[in-house]
Parts: sequence; structure tokens; C-alpha cells
Amino acid sequence: MSTQLQHYISGQSINGSGSGVTELVDPVNEDIYATAVEGSVEDVDAAVKAAHAQSKGGEWSKMTGEQRGILINKLADLVERDQELLADMDARAIGRSPIEPRLLDLPNTISTLRHAAGWADKLEGRTIPTPGYMGTPTLSYTQHVPVGVVAAITPWNTPLMILSWKVGPALAAGCTLVIKPATETPFTALHLAKLCTEAGIPDGVVNVVIGRGSVLGNALSEHPLVDKVSFTGSPEVGTQIQQRVAPQCKRVAMELGGKSPQIVFEDADMAAAVQGCAMGVFFNQGQVCAAGTRIFVQRSIADEFSKALAGAADSIKVGDPKEEGVQMGPVAKRGQFDTVNRYIQSGLDEGAQLMAGGVAEKGKGFFVKPTVFGNASNDMTIAREEIFGPVATIIPFDTEADAIRLANDTVYGLAGTVWTNNLARAHRVAQSLEAGAIGVNCWAPIDGRLPWGGFKTSGLGRECGKSGVLGYTEERVVTVLMPGASS
Ligand code: NAD
Repeated sequence: MSTQLQHYISGQSINGSGSGVTELVDPVNEDIYATAVEGSVEDVDAAVKAAHAQSKGGEWSKMTGEQRGILINKLADLVERDQELLADMDARAIGRSPIEPRLLDLPNTISTLRHAAGWADKLEGRTIPTPGYMGTPTLSYTQHVPVGVVAAITPWNTPLMILSWKVGPALAAGCTLVIKPATETPFTALHLAKLCTEAGIPDGVVNVVIGRGSVLGNALSEHPLVDKVSFTGSPEVGTQIQQRVAPQCKRVAMELGGKSPQIVFEDADMAAAVQGCAMGVFFNQGQVCAAGTRIFVQRSIADEFSKALAGAADSIKVGDPKEEGVQMGPVAKRGQFDTVNRYIQSGLDEGAQLMAGGVAEKGKGFFVKPTVFGNASNDMTIAREEIFGPVATIIPFDTEADAIRLANDTVYGLAGTVWTNNLARAHRVAQSLEAGAIGVNCWAPIDGRLPWGGFKTSGLGRECGKSGVLGYTEERVVTVLMPGASS
């Protein structure tokens, strides 16, 4: 154990003024494999001032969209160069198999950055015809201008990919950033910031402060020079941040939790639905905001489906992801291990039928077997609350209308899937679900070109795609009095 991670502010790795140290724990064996400095309010202030200086009159603020796009593309090239290292960093931090970030997170990060780079010189305004101003003709046009300094606060479950959904669009829009990665997963944020420097993005445009969420997050939310807080994490912390920023009316983007439905109709391709639902609920040990944890299955096929999903769960080999053939690692941290087990126990206590997995016995490492509950109901705790672990809850339904009603009976609205071979039903149900992203016969299509965000308590605003970039801009209208012009 030799690494002690530092903040990255104004293009420099620094210890900052905080006195604490975070120990980073390997979820596979509970060894401490690195330490990280714990930032202070003063460190946040230094990072915000660096970002502010670039945002207001600094070199970055004077660059054209074309120049920003070239630099973001260079950053994407460097991420591509270092993709195996970055995948390994994120995998190690949360005990995940590096195959998953290699297959999904890194390609997604690289394409998100490239897509965002393409928007940098395309943030066009509009000219809007009006009758003029008090009898005199006018010309009114709009501009998209950068919001300013963005505090990007990210979770631990897919650290780099989610960060790229903020960094790419924010840079494309001309903003600067102070990143606060999750306490447990600072590696890839720090490496990305260093790659920004290598790409030629001026010092101070992308800064990273590491340490405790409450200390740094509160300081960022309250700092008068932070213009927007872009947060991905739990609804509880998201709500606290919204309350904290309200007096200053800061802009916010909130990507919060989910309890997403997967609806399987009797006309679906059974094998594809079982495989897709298993992926939807067990990928990344179920630590996915869009995890399809409530699986609604038409009653006529519920038994067959439940047995098949339980079989799929039992066939997943759980263990150290570095070992040959292991498909699922531990959950990311002790707190998560305890939470997931509490929920599994509540499923048993409330009468759901355990078909695979179960409460984990505590040994070394935070291993939880993929767990399937059958014959559950939508009012059980395991169907109401976000577990953020590998736990599937199967709930039978009778009619299409029942499925839609049950699926929407939740405070969340992030994602959903529909499994059917009936085209009209596929569209009908997809358009009835109160959620930001629907997959038909596929699970949660996540792509940096597609808008991403939630209905209801799953969030506020959209990341990725054009919507994501526009979220980092203010729209300004300019009206010019044009005496003598024809109206
Ligand atoms: P969390 O809310 O505990 O932490 C998220 C981030 O907030 C971390 O960086 C943490 O250090 C920081 N933080 C903690 N206290 C803070 C405070 N008072 N002020 C500001 N920041 C603070 O969430 P988590 O456990 O890291 O992540 C899991 C949650 O994230 C789940 O609810 C999951 O659904 C959600 N999530 C949502 C999306 C999405 O796109 N909607 C994606 C991934 C994860």
C-alpha cells in the first residue's frame, strides 16, 4: 500500500489543507489498498476559484466552440489510450470484474466525450419574430451561454462513465468544473483530470477535490462562485443539496435513484426475457440506478419465468473477479453489504418466496449471491425501496392495464423495460410508463447520445445528448431596436 491520492487543482496534484485520510478498502478481501487525502472547505474554495478564473475572462472563456471541441476530442483519444488502466481502476475500487467496464463504461465514456465534442460548435441560437417594441421594429435573437462553474458530484457505482456524462457536455458548453467523486472511488476522476491537462485543456478548467461527501458537498453547494450543481446519487443527498442551493438559486441537475419495472408479457420470447431481466437486475451486482428490480410477469408464465430466472441467478459464479470464470464480484462496501442483507431479510419477513440466493453469511469480502424473490407484491418493502444490490422481486400480473398501473405505482421513474412480441402493445406500454428511458426487448439503452434522466423522484434535468449540453447553458435573448427597418 503506497498510493496516497491527492486533489488535482489548477493542473497540480496537491495535499490541500485537510488533516484526515480516507482508507480505500478492497471489497474482495477488505485490505486497505490505498489512502486518499480528505479535503477541507479551504480546498474546495481553492478549486472553485481556479474554475471561476477560467470561466470569467480566463483562457478557456475566450476559446471558440471549435477549439473546445478539438480539445474534448483529444481528451477522448487519451481516454481511449488509457482505457484498460481506467477500467481496472474502477473495477478494483468497487470489486467489479474489469470485463464490465471494458465492455460498457469505457466505450460509453469515450463516445460520450466525442459526441459532446461535436456539440461544442453547434450551440446555435434562434431569431424570433415579434411585432417590435412600442411601434419600432426590433431584431430578437437568442444565445446559449455557459452556466459557469459546475460542481460535479458523482457516485461510486460506475465512477468514470457517470462523470463523463457531466464533463463532456459541460466542457462543450464552455463551463468549468470542480469534481467531487465518491469518497471510495477517486481514482478515475483524478486520472481524467490529468488527461485534461495532457489534452491541452487549460489548468483550472477541470479540478478534483476528494474526501468526505458531507464536508466537500456542502462546501460546493454553498459556495457563491458555484453556478450549478450536477449531482448523481441518492435521493436523500439530492434533496439536501437542493435545499442548500435554494437560497442562491443555483442551477441543479439531479440524477437520483430508481426502482425500475421490467414487464414480461406472455407473448414475449421467454429465453430473451429471462436473460435480459437477469442482466437488468444483476449487472454490476445490481448497483445500477436503472436496475430493473421489480419484474412484473404475466400470471400465465410467472412460474416458468420465475424458475428460469432463479436458475439464471444460481448459475452466476460469485467470487473474486480476478479468478477465472467468476462473473460477479462483491458489493462495493460494508455499508452496502449490510443494507442489501437487511432488505433480503425484509423480503423473507414479509412473505416473498425466496427462489435463489438469500441472506449472505459474513466471511471475508462483501459477497452477496444473486437473489430472486417470486410471488411477491408491489407493496412489499423490497418492491418499494431502492436496494442497490443483486435482488430481483418478481410480481405476477393479469392484464396489460394492471401491469402499467403496478409499474407506475412507485415514487421513482428512471427506467423500464417491456418484453413482448406484440408491436402495438410494445409502443402502448412504453408510452404509458412514467420513466425517462424505456427499453423494448432490451435493458436500459445507455448511450451518450440519448438523453438520460428521471421522472418523479428519480431526478431533475437530463444528461447526455443535446439536452445534456443545453443543460450547461443559459439562454439569453438580445433585442435590438431597429428604427427604420421594415418589420
Ligand atoms: P450518495 O448520495 O450517498 O453519494 C453520491 C455523492 O454525493 C458522493 O460523491 C458522496 O460523497 C456525495 N455526498 C454525500 N453527502 C453529501 C452532501 N451532504 N452534499 C453533497 N454531496 C454529498 O449515493 P451513492 O451511494 O454514492 O450512490 C448510489 C445512489 O446513486 C443510488 O440511489 C443510485 O440510484 C444513484 N445513482 C443514480 C444514477 C442516475 O443516473 N440516476 C446513476 C448512478 C447512481
